[in-house]
Amino acid sequence: MSRVRLAPRFENFPPYTPIEPFEVLSARLGLPPEKIIKVDANENPYGPAPAVKEALANLRWANIYPDPESRALRAALSDFTGAPAENLLPGAGADELIDLILRLVLEPGDVVLNFPPTFGMYPFDTLLNAGQVIDVPRLPDFSLDLPAIRRAVEEHQPKAMFLTTPNNPDGHFPPAAVLDELLELPLLVVVDEAYIEFTREGGRLGENLSRIRSVPQRENLIVLRTFSKWAGLAGLRVGYGAFPTWMMPALWAAKQPYNVNVAASEAALASLRSLDFLAANVERLKAERERLFGLLQSVPYLTPYPSQANFILCGVKQIPASQLKASLAARGILVRYYNTPYLRDMIRISIGRPAESDAVIAALRELAEEKSEP
Ligand SMILES: *Cc1c(COP(=O)(O)O)cnc(C)c1O
Repeated sequence: MSRVRLAPRFENFPPYTPIEPFEVLSARLGLPPEKIIKVDANENPYGPAPAVKEALANLRWANIYPDPESRALRAALSDFTGAPAENLLPGAGADELIDLILRLVLEPGDVVLNFPPTFGMYPFDTLLNAGQVIDVPRLPDFSLDLPAIRRAVEEHQPKAMFLTTPNNPDGHFPPAAVLDELLELPLLVVVDEAYIEFTREGGRLGENLSRIRSVPQRENLIVLRTFSKWAGLAGLRVGYGAFPTWMMPALWAAKQPYNVNVAASEAALASLRSLDFLAANVERLKAERERLFGLLQSVPYLTPYPSQANFILCGVKQIPASQLKASLAARGILVRYYNTPYLRDMIRISIGRPAESDAVIAALRELAEEKSEP
């Protein structure tokens, strides 16, 4: 027997389940991509700013490695967020930064607190980095169970917790007082603001609610943000984090040197020069979220949950959610389907353009009628 083998934790490693790529779906459904209504991955239906397409068309330095310190992008991000450039680190999506944080803090067996249902990358990257996940489930309205979190902190001495504000997949946004209480606990608090730009009270692009400016004043707060959702750059992979000052040298030392490629960096810079355009699209999506919520409430077998993000989670009654997902897919409508211990029979619908919401609602109503026929 060869001595070459996997580290034991990779022998039955649970993979992250990503969404199916557009081209694959299009081929499978026999529908051209423009006929598919893709509301399964919280992507921005309006796409990137025109300045992004221009910057990519005129990209000059694709043959040269990118700046490992992302100086131009960090300066622009500092202007945008109000956080000092010295505390900012861009990554190949916020996803890369989740992994990097855990690499830096976890020793084998160390505990990370997770508040399911939530984003699947936190447990995924914890296991990848030989850590251990302790779940403290959310309450039925998806709010955080503070007493249970305190008990788990006492009992398991976790190194870090991940807190998504607003949460994915339900769109719950925790009150400021809850976040303040969590920040007093003796561990690293990673606040994932992937959807902060869509919050109701956040003002322009979430600036009134983001915690990013308070990062340098604290020892234990990390704020992650991304260009994937509000700026429509999911395909280019660019996100960023604000980190406590004491962590920065280790982050610089441990990160992959060329993690943010030149196209992603130029696209992010062009997005930051197009804030009016992008903020107008975010406002469109916020208005559409309220309209779609009302329409979903009128579908008899759905229970939509109020959301502060660019998606709406719905409980499904009377028919199995898996069947609903399949019937919608057969009509070229892709939604995210869940059937996990914390999300029984649910679907999540991303906010699209008004015409897309209308098509989704028409299909949902049609399915209700088919179902009630004898
Ligand atoms: C989409 C999403 C991200 C991923 O961001 P990328 O920058 O695309 O890696 C991070 N956190 C949450 C909660 C998300 O839903």
